[in-house]
Amino acid sequence: MERKIVIVGGVAGGATAAARLRRLSEKDKIILFERDEYISFANCGLPYYLGGVIQDRDRLIVESVENLSKKFALDIRNLTEVIAIDRLKKTVRVRNLRNNEEYEESYDKLILSTGASPIKLPLKGDDNVQHIFTLRNIPDTDKIETFIKDNKPKHAAIIGGGFIGVEMAENLTHRGIHCTIIDLSNQVMAPLDKEMAKIIENELTRHDVDLKLNDSVEEILDNGKKLLLKSRSVVNADLIIMAVGVKPESKLAKLAGLKLGSKGHVSTTPQLQTLDEKTNDIIEDIYAIGDVIEVIDPIDQSITAVPLAWPANRQGRLVADHINGKKVSYKGTFGTSIVKVFNLVAASTGNNEKSLIRKNIPHHSIMVTRGNHAGYYPGAQDILIKLIFNSKGKILGAQAVGGAGTDKRIDVISTAMKGGLNVEDLADLELAYAPPFSSAKDPVNIAGYAASNLLNGSYDVFPMTQIDDLLNKKAFIIDSRTKLEFELGHIHGAINLPYSEVRINSTALPLDKKEAIYVYCNVGHTAYLMIQVLKQYGYEKVFNLSGGYKLYKELHESPKKLMHLSTHEDIHVELKKEESQSSYQIDKKIDACGLQCPGPIMQTFKALESLKEGQVVQVEATESGYRNDIVKWCQNTGNTLLLNEVDGGIYRAVIQKGSGSPKNNLSNVGRTDATTIVLFSGDMDKALGALIIAQGAATMNKKVTIFATFWGLNLLRRSEKIKVKKSFIEGMFGWMMPRGPKKMTISKMNFAGFGTKLMRSVMKKKHISLIEAQLQDAINAGVQFVACQMSMDVMGIKQEELIDGISYGGVATYLAESENAGVTLFI
Ligand code: FAD
Repeated sequence: MERKIVIVGGVAGGATAAARLRRLSEKDKIILFERDEYISFANCGLPYYLGGVIQDRDRLIVESVENLSKKFALDIRNLTEVIAIDRLKKTVRVRNLRNNEEYEESYDKLILSTGASPIKLPLKGDDNVQHIFTLRNIPDTDKIETFIKDNKPKHAAIIGGGFIGVEMAENLTHRGIHCTIIDLSNQVMAPLDKEMAKIIENELTRHDVDLKLNDSVEEILDNGKKLLLKSRSVVNADLIIMAVGVKPESKLAKLAGLKLGSKGHVSTTPQLQTLDEKTNDIIEDIYAIGDVIEVIDPIDQSITAVPLAWPANRQGRLVADHINGKKVSYKGTFGTSIVKVFNLVAASTGNNEKSLIRKNIPHHSIMVTRGNHAGYYPGAQDILIKLIFNSKGKILGAQAVGGAGTDKRIDVISTAMKGGLNVEDLADLELAYAPPFSSAKDPVNIAGYAASNLLNGSYDVFPMTQIDDLLNKKAFIIDSRTKLEFELGHIHGAINLPYSEVRINSTALPLDKKEAIYVYCNVGHTAYLMIQVLKQYGYEKVFNLSGGYKLYKELHESPKKLMHLSTHEDIHVELKKEESQSSYQIDKKIDACGLQCPGPIMQTFKALESLKEGQVVQVEATESGYRNDIVKWCQNTGNTLLLNEVDGGIYRAVIQKGSGSPKNNLSNVGRTDATTIVLFSGDMDKALGALIIAQGAATMNKKVTIFATFWGLNLLRRSEKIKVKKSFIEGMFGWMMPRGPKKMTISKMNFAGFGTKLMRSVMKKKHISLIEAQLQDAINAGVQFVACQMSMDVMGIKQEELIDGISYGGVATYLAESENAGVTLFI
């Protein structure tokens, strides 16, 4: 029997339902009404189109009216609004917005997928202000795009720091528009707990997005060009984006007497059928799906509303299944969500601590930080996971902030929640591993271990967010990291007792075994090991400070802005890209990911050296300084920067050799200036500094000379013992001086060689070339080394003891070199 199925709303939920209905039945007549021009478009992609990441507007339209109609034999009526439902007659009244004609259409089954519309807060002084925009659909996007093109705004004020606000801030920043986010609450991204959101806030600040939290707009001034905030600060606002959330489009449902929830969402059965507002009876022929409905939170069966694309799509399919006789039900929404914020990703699923506290649900939480893949494989990025669970191990929610692969971890946890797995099961999950993707113990496994350990009493945690309370109480806080790490930064008020020393220095511990001890390390693992020792010593109350020093720093230190490219430079690069995108062809690709400064610049320099004038190299790096360095470097060397973009933590530059207006064009034969460094010090860190500066200068095509004198000669010594004739005193000097760069030690906190070892291991971990490799790189880059003959004589160092390829000279050589030098350094 042919049925007539009418759908109201033709985007996420509505279009999905229509396609599934057709797949299940060829007989039914399916009519889809959409008020707007477009159906089935990618609302989630709109901010990225405005940021220029998605360049082709047509790509936003997933299916056109014509295509979808043909493909699924649908009767799609766009620019047609449904204005009333007659439940008794089983008809809808519709208005054709092209000519305002109204007519009735009957239905056997009616599906409401009317979505949610952006909330437009009235602002004092907003009359006649034309540049306040909301973003929901393609017409909204077109309006913003046209405004930007016509008016070239320099400053955008974004009201609301949720998904859309944060995505717009990132995308407008990409276009060279300085953004300020204003939010009434004390954090951005409400699905995250405050401390997790702080990491995102720091990332926004690093990228020059100003944040005005705990604040709101009091008044619009100067024809909308400025916003006066409650805090009395004034924000420039050439463009205003209102992104304060959405409200359900349930007017139609309300008029038809359908039951609505407390916030105006349509109430439904698990089969997504609506209910009568008075009798609560199920209205079998009217379904509602998507942003317009309220759903069950599977964690505690409470009622909530989650305006996201997954639920709308899932419900669209289920509704079609139910209409076609399948026994299905919608099981609720965890609210699994994700957002990209410049080089970070924030994702969450289930309940956060804020909501659990509000609902009075007892819970525990742990935090773990692990690399997204093996640390030795280039480009590893940290992921911080916060896992929330109850005393039975049931997972109540999780949040993660970090680099690539953050999505995968939250998806795994969300899947575990769906399957009813508990925290111990997380440790037991067998997840795919190879060095580029994960570690043999995935961060999700580690979160499972940490949570299980907490539940079985192996340790307890204390939130780093409450560290100030502990400090005020003068609590006993141990920094379990090494002395060097402690020296480099610590929580003031903590004592340093490195884990490796706890067994030999137990006198540093409190006498009273009942005294509470709070332990931290960088991310929690060493602290956990220390806690195991303390427990065996009889201490009863020992806590791991959740999130470790890494989180402490995020919470307490003001992030530094990345050196910002001026708007002019950004636009310049963008234009070059647009102009030349079709014309340039990449001649060489360099993967400098995982290399630290000056590695990526060195690689760029080497690559260009091997290319001809006009040829193009693409360099990808993960070192964040590269984005700024490459601009300056190209300016100084007269090479042309065709593209400078960030792509999910990868900094990609496309450079054409030459063609700029050279300050020091690589293709120039003569060098215009020089840098001379006098290396007096024999300390590893100082010599390293000299080598890095020298390589940087060499890549700018400067003639660089390192003049090694006295202890600086250590850098040039061969590592093997060379038999040469020496007097007793000369022999003593030779014995005292380290043989070559490998044996050099750091100037401070060497701790009988331990500090140096630690420094070398940290450099290795961070993929910074060790000093011996840096020396070779400097030689390869053309840095000239001159050993001071006079100090060699004094110290009895013979030429045979020094490496090949260097020259020997005295003061005259040094003076001759420094005469031409723009820069002379004494290290
Ligand atoms: P919609 O997709 O909004 O469709 C409702 C349609 O119904 C509208 O086109 C409306 O014009 C039409 N309509 C309403 N009333 C009537 C009427 N009376 N007659 C005829 N037509 C009517 N979600 C994610 O999960 N991830 C993301 O990254 C993400 N990014 C987003 C970015 C933006 C800018 C926006 C606006 C949303 C984003 N969302 C995202 C949310 C996601 O798009 C929505 O949750 C989803 O589209 C909801 O689907 P829906 O069918 O309920 O409503």
